[in-house]
Amino acid sequence: MQLNYIANQSVPSASSQTIDVIDPSDGQAYDQIQRSVAADIDDAVGAARHALDSVWCKLSAAERGRLLMRLSLKITEHAQELADIEQRDCGKPTKQARADAAALARYFEFYAGACDKLHGQTIPYLDGYSVLTWREAHGVTGHIIPWNYPMQIFGRSVGGALAAGNVCVVKPAEDACLSLIRVAQLAAEVGFAPGVINMVTGYGHEVGAALARHRGIDHISFTGSPRVGTLIQQVAAERHCPVTLELGGKSPQIVFADADLDAALPAIINAIVQNAGQTCSAGSRLLVAQAIYEPLLARLGTAFENLRVGPAQLDLDVGPLIRRSQQQRVADFLDDAHAAGIPIVAEGKVVEQAPPSGFYQAPVLLRDVPVSHRVAQEEVFGPVLCALPFRDEDHAVELANATQFGLVAGVWSANGARQLRMARRLRSGQVFINNYGAGGGVELPFGGVKSSGHGREKGFEALFGFTTLKTVAIRHG
Ligand code: ADP
Repeated sequence: MQLNYIANQSVPSASSQTIDVIDPSDGQAYDQIQRSVAADIDDAVGAARHALDSVWCKLSAAERGRLLMRLSLKITEHAQELADIEQRDCGKPTKQARADAAALARYFEFYAGACDKLHGQTIPYLDGYSVLTWREAHGVTGHIIPWNYPMQIFGRSVGGALAAGNVCVVKPAEDACLSLIRVAQLAAEVGFAPGVINMVTGYGHEVGAALARHRGIDHISFTGSPRVGTLIQQVAAERHCPVTLELGGKSPQIVFADADLDAALPAIINAIVQNAGQTCSAGSRLLVAQAIYEPLLARLGTAFENLRVGPAQLDLDVGPLIRRSQQQRVADFLDDAHAAGIPIVAEGKVVEQAPPSGFYQAPVLLRDVPVSHRVAQEEVFGPVLCALPFRDEDHAVELANATQFGLVAGVWSANGARQLRMARRLRSGQVFINNYGAGGGVELPFGGVKSSGHGREKGFEALFGFTTLKTVAIRHG
């Protein structure tokens, strides 16, 4: 059984209740986590505050950086163990699980180096004054983590917050906690003081909500659904607590007739099947120039038919979805699309070794999807790609911007002027030209516009969100 990790101690929840941990590959329970309650958040926030005031605020930025670097190296030493934990907990194919562990180490490496480079400015002002600005940590930051990339999102969120001088209370998703509990233990082993990183597991509406409304939390970083993002922002507004929200997308991949299709094809497929489509920045809409619509769909159709879905350990193209309700959610979208007469171009295959009790969904390529249909508007969070043709550049922009989201966009074209025009006109936090995702580099600021959220994580930019600016004006004559 897994316990909470508070002040470097493994502790049970005050509730004495647990939640089963399910392996998505076979649908079977194999462990339990704590079903925590508000009292556990009180303990974690208390431990964090004590750590902040007694130890963490006294470390120099360089000392913080060294600690983060030690954790990065420790994660690399334990990368296989962490990947194995994540694979079973989340149903990730081996390559994905390993990539996530490597990304976690890289986040801590990046933010280790950033700690002592975050500085303020001096501002020219009236004669007789000197004015300077300091970037100060918020204090105790709350991190509500989703289940799709627990290690990566912990890395970007907690890594950035610690680098900026905060201490952290983390609420992982109820479906995906195990790797993060282990990371918190590894942090203690390399010398993080008790209370700097605290891990409290449980249901979102119980302990997540308790974290969001806790008066001892000075900043909240949330990645998850728009519905819960709204709730968190409302609760945080009661006490004017700053929030960073990353709420997903319906991101377009836009292919012009002059694109290098040999390069685009594998990227288009990966953008929707990676992590079984359970990716905030999934390229879930494919906008294609009319002139190449039919030939591109023909090639994509063949590629989709060759995609194989099965248990995570088989390391196929696609693993299972996270849980039964997610499988049902994707099936509901596909039923609606079917009822609306939206044609299916091709589907992948679930392999025979996949237990029927696992949460499998074959990738599906849909075509001629009406722009207003919910499968083209809402986040499916499954391997479902919607293809739509466009007439010209203006039409491509209109379709691309025609959802409530604005997280990521991809543009495929050989025309340099068009690449830049598109990048300017697309309403999204990131634009990728002749690639999709750029390998997910930790250096690249990430976040959305519109209902995709606000604030930026990743890169150096994240450190501005994890700090507040103090202006000091000295009148010295
Ligand atoms: P999904 O629907 O894909 O599971 P959620 O937005 O519900 O995505 O979950 C993302 C994270 O938010 C998880 O850690 C979850 O436990 C947490 N969460 C869910 N509901 C709430 C809530 N009401 N308050 C705070 N956190 C929540």
